[in-house]
Amino acid sequence: MLEELTSRKLDALIITHLPNVRYLCGFTGSSGVLLLTPTKSVFFTDGRYTTQARAEVTGLTVVISRKSALAAAAEWVLVRIPRKSKMAVGIESEHLTIASRDSLARQLSSRFRLRGTVTLVERLRMIKEADEIAIIRRAVLLGANLFEHILKKIQPGISEMEIAAELEYAARRAGAQEMSFSTIVAAGPRSALPHARASAQRVPRRAFVLLDFGVILQGYCSDMTRTVCVGHVSRAARDVYEAVREAQQAAVDAVRPGASVAEVDGAARKVLRRAKLARYFRHSIGHGVGLEIHELPRVAAGQQEQLHPGTVITIEPGVYIAGHGGVRIEDMVVVNGNGCEVLTPSSKELIVL
Ligand code: ZN
Ligand code: ZN
Repeated sequence: MLEELTSRKLDALIITHLPNVRYLCGFTGSSGVLLLTPTKSVFFTDGRYTTQARAEVTGLTVVISRKSALAAAAEWVLVRIPRKSKMAVGIESEHLTIASRDSLARQLSSRFRLRGTVTLVERLRMIKEADEIAIIRRAVLLGANLFEHILKKIQPGISEMEIAAELEYAARRAGAQEMSFSTIVAAGPRSALPHARASAQRVPRRAFVLLDFGVILQGYCSDMTRTVCVGHVSRAARDVYEAVREAQQAAVDAVRPGASVAEVDGAARKVLRRAKLARYFRHSIGHGVGLEIHELPRVAAGQQEQLHPGTVITIEPGVYIAGHGGVRIEDMVVVNGNGCEVLTPSSKELIVL
């Protein structure tokens, strides 16, 4: 991180995005700011977090302030940074509100210039360390176990919300901190809505049921989607399912170090084009996952990013036919030395309940 400061000629960098703060200094609370300078790192929070900050943030100065953490950081910059005529202070443009930026500018004198930075820490977070991958692996396994559990509950007549409630209850009982995002359960024609929230809709006698969910363990998210079938499966529905499964496998097979994310996306689209279903696949194929459910890299057409060992991404093509239904299959994979390892152990064969 310090090289980033030097190469960008920053005298200080104020980290306000909490997942970035957590990544760099270990603080898991909901209010804190990390200030980095070429010679010193200081963490600022308020009195609610005195005990927690002392326990979690080790190896750097912790300041507990009556002011907001950001105001305390600004004061520290003003008083403690060696005086130069012009000082550059980096902020996280994507995460600091305009109001906060304005009050920061007011508090600092005119010899400080605020300079926006983007994805400085996010790019470091993209490559996971072995201990992070170990936690992610456990979160993914918990998700897979929950999927097995919920299969026993899915039947005609149960509502999407009841399925989601059962899944989330089981997740908390099994030790999940919380869900990675609002659980998606979409039955019948609603499965054609890629981001349907669970509703009061009941599972019809014959339908696809799409489940997309994840759990958070020790701060790290998991994310998986499976689409199962209730009742009789028509030939057409099975064909759609098999095409998505083949597209998903083709994308997984395209994941290797040095491959561009666009190649991975393209591999799935090629399969769906052959099946004349490409026009029903209208979102990008995946995303990075870690301390946040959506993080770098974006795995999408038109993106130049290359994959590196240690990067954890989802592979999740889908086909959504309005009025009928949709199929999505999503795994998490980690890029390794020569390809990737699929972390999600759940079967991708069509499950008919
Ligand atoms: Zn998902
Ligand atoms: Zn996802």
